[in-house]
Amino acid sequence: MFYIKNNKFIKADIIFLFVSAVILSTAVFCFSYIQKTNFASQYTLQEDYNTSKQVNSLQEDSNTSKRDSALQEDSDVLKTDSIKKLTQKKENCLICIDPGHQERGDSSLEQVAPNSSQKKAKVSSGTTGIATKKPEYVLNLEASQVLKKILEEKKYEVMMTRETHEVNISNSQRAIMANEAKADLVVRIHADGLDNPSVTGSSVLVPAKDGQYTSAIYEESYKVAQIIKKNFQNENIKINGIFERNDLTGFNWSTVPTVLIEMGFMSNYNEDLMMSDKSYQEKMMNAVADAIDEAFEE
Ligand SMILES: [Zn+2]
Repeated sequence: MFYIKNNKFIKADIIFLFVSAVILSTAVFCFSYIQKTNFASQYTLQEDYNTSKQVNSLQEDSNTSKRDSALQEDSDVLKTDSIKKLTQKKENCLICIDPGHQERGDSSLEQVAPNSSQKKAKVSSGTTGIATKKPEYVLNLEASQVLKKILEEKKYEVMMTRETHEVNISNSQRAIMANEAKADLVVRIHADGLDNPSVTGSSVLVPAKDGQYTSAIYEESYKVAQIIKKNFQNENIKINGIFERNDLTGFNWSTVPTVLIEMGFMSNYNEDLMMSDKSYQEKMMNAVADAIDEAFEE
């Protein structure tokens, strides 16, 4: 068509091309608008879901109902350590990985925060997979070891709060281990469980911004959490959001930036199976390790 010398044909071609281009660009615009709108409504639903706070009812243990008022009572101790910024070279960085729970829970009590009058069980054994029948403490250690390997390949120094299941280390003790080692970041690995088997998705928990014992470590922790959330979204790993917590012993005792990753729901059949899949664990932990990279590079 383009080689016909007749002017009429050429004019017709130009008009044809012009009209085609207009139709095509309108189609592209509409398509991307629809995509955006879908994403936005999905995202809004997720955020709404987040604020319902149902997701967070099953974390370190279930004795959290009395938490808020009791935490207000202790006003004499605040964390005064200045929090290191995540800016140094990663070769000098120490990452502490805390695989949540252990083979046997310890229901004896410990202070929920330094000098707090409120106490909680030291550590529980966690939830159990509905499909795999795997205990959470086993899954947490599997994923933690995957993360450890990736971080070591990236030349980070890595410490683990536990490398076997037969330990008895309370949540405050785990935090103190990282404090004393002067870890630059603590990554706590957990999985969720709920009575409702249809609930799915990961979450990142961070120390509360306004928490009496957590505000000092909020900013750096939240920075890492945001990058993890972004990376999960990029990898199509469902994430329900970032949640601030002032009731977790492991956060309240920590003097270093800390994030807790709830990888997904072991109470959902498919998500439970997926979380035990080695390649899914690698995908998820690569996203976490890349987030740590990005946090330290900024
Ligand atoms: Zn857990």
